[in-house]
Amino acid sequence: MKKTIALIAHDGKKPEMVAFVKDHQDLLEHANIIATGTTGSYVRQTGLPVELKLSGPMGGDAQIAALAAEGKVDGIIFFRDPLGKHAHEPDIQMLMRVCDLYNVPLATNPATGSLIIEGLLEDLVD
Ligand code: PGA
Repeated sequence: MKKTIALIAHDGKKPEMVAFVKDHQDLLEHANIIATGTTGSYVRQTGLPVELKLSGPMGGDAQIAALAAEGKVDGIIFFRDPLGKHAHEPDIQMLMRVCDLYNVPLATNPATGSLIIEGLLEDLVD
């Protein structure tokens, strides 16, 4: 079955997310990609199809957390901006807590993100 990967990037990290997706495009083509609203719009520039959730501050992180709790997300790549302040900090904490609760792979930087993408998707590609 196709794996589902969720992508979230704070504003200061969106260019890094687009670069990350381009670097892993050959593997990500084999996954369902979901993303918070603005991140997803950026990622769509790569040509990959992305299912958009609400924008993060409007509940998008909470939507992705709910999917993770239901076992509907196989891995989450979440590039947080360590220098930013966020109105939706409680949702961010909740998403990370849910990942720990349900043992869902969660990467917060490109190095770990690569390991997740390769680990989940590499054996699906000939
Ligand atoms: P965004 O949300 O992709 O809609 O900007 C990300 C976030 O801030 O959590």
